[in-house]
Amino acid sequence: RGATPVPPEVRPRLTVLSGPSGVGKSTVVAHLRKEYPEVWLSVSATTRRPRPGERHGVQYFFVDDEEFDKLIANGELLEWAEFAGNRYGTPRRAVLDHLEAGEPVLLEIDLQGARLVRKSMPEAQLVFLAPPSWDELVRRLTGRGTEPPEVIRRRLEVAKTELAAESEFDGTLVNTSVEDVARELLALL
Ligand code: 5GP
Repeated sequence: RGATPVPPEVRPRLTVLSGPSGVGKSTVVAHLRKEYPEVWLSVSATTRRPRPGERHGVQYFFVDDEEFDKLIANGELLEWAEFAGNRYGTPRRAVLDHLEAGEPVLLEIDLQGARLVRKSMPEAQLVFLAPPSWDELVRRLTGRGTEPPEVIRRRLEVAKTELAAESEFDGTLVNTSVEDVARELLALL
């Protein structure tokens, strides 16, 4: 994994939403996409297979390993990380274009990605999405029903260490209701 540096003249309103797997980050983002279409959301590239209902260019750009290698080699990713056996990365150009146009940018990425953004863009605002409780997080991770048990087990392991990372963030939003979190997040952009 790695990050490509960003020129210092870019003074962004970049907000990073991160948190444990299953905490509901993508649900919050889906809600924002629907209710607040005026907010531009970065669309990541991933080597993961699409889940039912996911569309290329909306939730992700779905690419194969070879294409992902090229994105890295060409410096086209602001950051990228491996998560549960797949690679995920933020396309750099689109993010910088929006920031240069003075528009707020929201990234929904994993903790490793959040740390890489912190390094390459120290002025970015890091927001931690926390579950109401550990039991609730386990319930959500188990209940999604779209992943095999082995994948869920690995995600729970990752989630346990990710919960401890809250202190590295600028602020925390507790995911009690998707509407409330979306509204609170918008106020921070
Ligand atoms: P999922 O497979 O459930 O859509 O996402 C798995 C994890 O990858 C989530 O924690 C999500 O936030 C993270 N993720 C999505 N896009 C990116 C990205 O561009 N970079 C990084 N570092 N993580 C990402």
